[in-house]
Amino acid sequence: MTERIQAVRGMNDILPDQAQWWEFFEETVRNWLHDYGYRTLRMPVLERTDLFVRSIGEVTDIVEKEMYTFVDQLNGESLTLRPEGTASCVRAVIEHNLLYPGPQRLSYMGPMFRHERPQKGRYRQFHQVGVEALGYGGPDIDAEHMVMCARLWRLLGIEGVVLELNTLGNSEARARFRARLVGYFQQHEGELDADAKRRVLTNPLRILDSKNPQMQALIAAAPRMLDDMDDESMRHFDAVQSLLRSAGVPFALNTRLVRGLDYYNRTVFEWVTASLGAQGTVCAGGRYDGLVEQIGGKPAPACGFAMGVERLLELMQHAQRAVPRVADVYLVNQGDAAGRFAFGVAESLRDQHLSVVLDCSGASFKSQMKKADGSGARYAVIIGEDEAAAGELTLKPLRVNGEQKRCAVAQAVDLIRGK
Ligand code: ATP
Ligand code: MG
Repeated sequence: MTERIQAVRGMNDILPDQAQWWEFFEETVRNWLHDYGYRTLRMPVLERTDLFVRSIGEVTDIVEKEMYTFVDQLNGESLTLRPEGTASCVRAVIEHNLLYPGPQRLSYMGPMFRHERPQKGRYRQFHQVGVEALGYGGPDIDAEHMVMCARLWRLLGIEGVVLELNTLGNSEARARFRARLVGYFQQHEGELDADAKRRVLTNPLRILDSKNPQMQALIAAAPRMLDDMDDESMRHFDAVQSLLRSAGVPFALNTRLVRGLDYYNRTVFEWVTASLGAQGTVCAGGRYDGLVEQIGGKPAPACGFAMGVERLLELMQHAQRAVPRVADVYLVNQGDAAGRFAFGVAESLRDQHLSVVLDCSGASFKSQMKKADGSGARYAVIIGEDEAAAGELTLKPLRVNGEQKRCAVAQAVDLIRGK
């Protein structure tokens, strides 16, 4: 036998049983985005490597070890499969001058790529929904983002995700904090793991984001960022909190929250759950006022977040909000003439916006009826030689009450519609 070719490790097929959850999720998300005035931006999955190095930061997990980077054999350019969406979104906004008419509320969804060790909730191709508000500097947008997340969890039937919140201040505040942090970690050099040792001088804040259990005690006792905060960032942060309180969205302050990407300032937040094990962050974001300028645009404040679709779907499935999408009609037919007639009937029903699965097996009536039952369709339409000769059909309710009935197509449509 020929050797089978399998999917790339960590990159999953989404099979039909799963896909119906995805579709429910995506539809809910689209309506929710619309309700908040966010418009869609679709970016390519491939970008110049520099874009991510410059925005996410050189000394980060993503850029140091997770990017799928390769040289385009045809022209020698270094390209990278996008590990996240914010950088591409900002690149596109600048390239197309989208901020010229004013601030923009934008969103995207799609696959992201990171070369990580695959495990539950962590894949090499995974999906994010990203929301970015560009050109907005006020605390109302930060709060809007968190309030809209809270609403989405309700719409999806997800419970038990909690909001953690912190502020990173302005760049001077971060520089002060950074200096204190370097001092602290240097005093405890013996307790640092290899990653942390490497980062003490290059990116000490990132150490606070470490997932290594052995590092947690050291991190818990580290200096607090809040103590170095600048006044304006503090006022901004207070305003965000007060908007959240008046919207009735609970949150917990987490002074260790720094996020794994370099571009954040001021507000940062994560939605976390205890029910997904180590992969507990389902959504994360914050303010990135410097990024537009850093990528070559005119300075513009901005704020955004991204959620991990696989992790959210896992939570939805915990909550058992199954959403099977089934056809209205399963069309059972047997014999050549009946088959030809049934083919036309199926199209007529679809003309009336009914969904129809046409049985094409040529199997016995009995086995086709079994398939009809198993399909979850509300009705079976049965067409044999008799029906075909009379130009009619037999309508049999499967998931609804009612008698089996022989009738014309138009009447069947009314009955299926419940008229
Ligand atoms: P983690 O700490 O879990 O590695 P992160 O900080 O790297 O997450 P972000 O870059 O903030 O993640 O991405 C936003 C969200 O995307 C995460 O909260 C998570 O839900 C999801 N996510 C990130 N990486 C993966 C992955 N490899 N597989 C599945 N989902 C992921
Ligand atoms: Mg990560």
